[in-house]
Amino acid sequence: MQFDIVVVGAGAAGLTAAIFAGRSAPGARIAVVDGAEKIGAKILIAGGGRCNVTHDVVFPDDFNGSRNAIAKVLRTFPVDKTIAFFEEIGVTLKREEGGKLFPITDRAKTVLDALLDATRDAGASILPETRVATIHAGFALDTSRGRIEAGKVILATGGRSVPKTGSDGHGYLLARALGHTVSEIFPALVPLVIEEPHWIRELSGTSAEVELAVRSGTGRVLARQRGAMLMTHFGISGPAPLDISRHWIDARRSDGEARLTASFLPAEDFESLEKKLLKAAKRYPHATAASALRGAVPERILDRLTPPAPIARLSRDERRATIRSLIELGIPVSRDRGFDYAEVTAGGVPLDEIEVGTMASRRTPGLYLCGEILDVDGRIGGYNFQWAWASGRLAGMHCANRS
Ligand SMILES: Cc1cc2nc3c(=O)[nH]c(=O)nc-3n(C[C@H](O)[C@H](O)[C@H](O)COP(=O)(O)OP(=O)(O)OC[C@H]3O[C@@H](n4cnc5c(N)ncnc54)[C@H](O)[C@@H]3O)c2cc1C
Repeated sequence: MQFDIVVVGAGAAGLTAAIFAGRSAPGARIAVVDGAEKIGAKILIAGGGRCNVTHDVVFPDDFNGSRNAIAKVLRTFPVDKTIAFFEEIGVTLKREEGGKLFPITDRAKTVLDALLDATRDAGASILPETRVATIHAGFALDTSRGRIEAGKVILATGGRSVPKTGSDGHGYLLARALGHTVSEIFPALVPLVIEEPHWIRELSGTSAEVELAVRSGTGRVLARQRGAMLMTHFGISGPAPLDISRHWIDARRSDGEARLTASFLPAEDFESLEKKLLKAAKRYPHATAASALRGAVPERILDRLTPPAPIARLSRDERRATIRSLIELGIPVSRDRGFDYAEVTAGGVPLDEIEVGTMASRRTPGLYLCGEILDVDGRIGGYNFQWAWASGRLAGMHCANRS
């Protein structure tokens, strides 16, 4: 089998690359190969089966990685262009509270089917169950269906999160064999586990607005994240824990003493909260911390963190300990849930090994890389797909245009 362009990986980035390669070079022989039997598993499970396609406001700061390089790629495919692209291939998007964009059908399948149709319309063939074992420069690809020759290759094999979808990390070996390095990878957007018995696990199903902070062993705040936290039977999940997880994991890799703390009253600091409690005690002698904070913190959490005695009867130390537990509660996270439960992979091929104006490899001529295989990971909210669409489009267009 011989093609002008072979895209390895038919995920969000690979399909977008194939569409734009085909549109840029009509008549070119383009194939998208994927090891999976069913194409697009990750798109189908995304956003709880509804696929959070993008976000209405996307900034480079919503991503971890090389800021300037990420900005350069994102600028080429801003959100309004993304919305127009999806509209053109038959997917109308709607905005939900908080800014996430979903298909109006609320079905991820609408997104996948439209991408597959657009890929075929652009003249590219889709070859499922074709796992690439090795790529020889030049290019010759050894696949589970035999050898494929290609003039150019776009590597869009994703990361290692949820490996049963097909993104099992083999792409990193392919990139290495073609001269790239791979920075250490680790799970991101991943739930966090509390192994020891802890009241948080007993409140499984309770959700609270929090500000989480990763602190170094010396107490310095390394990262903060506000949002909802869901307590579960194993520990914590939901937007704030998922967003902060990569920072906790990263900090722990270099500092075994790094820890996670939660404030259940993100708008308060120690002094303001102490003032509030003392004021309540003055006005109502029987006021407890729980009664003073009712409505601001879920009742079940107040039951766990505040003493039953009236504020006025608490010793200064007891009052201070109560305040601390409400605004700087140590959460004894023991580990993350691993790649099987991670929405994205942190680390990957460094962007300085890529010409980010075109997504061409600086190491192997004729090779392009896009999507999650690169050292970029975004926040929760549609950012990771936006990276896949933007980088995939650039790779496809430029791969097809350059002779
Ligand atoms: C549960 C879950 C929910 C998510 N929800 C959202 C969301 O709502 N919004 C959002 O923005 N992001 C979401 N993400 C993240 C998002 O899905 C990914 O960042 C994005 O799909 C990455 O696209 P990609 O094309 O780079 O890689 P992938 O989508 O992982 O695609 C890579 C493809 O390459 C194939 N492949 C790998 N190795 C080989 C090989 N050797 N030979 C042939 N084929 C190979 C794989 O089979 C796979 O199909 C979610 C992720 C998960 C796991």
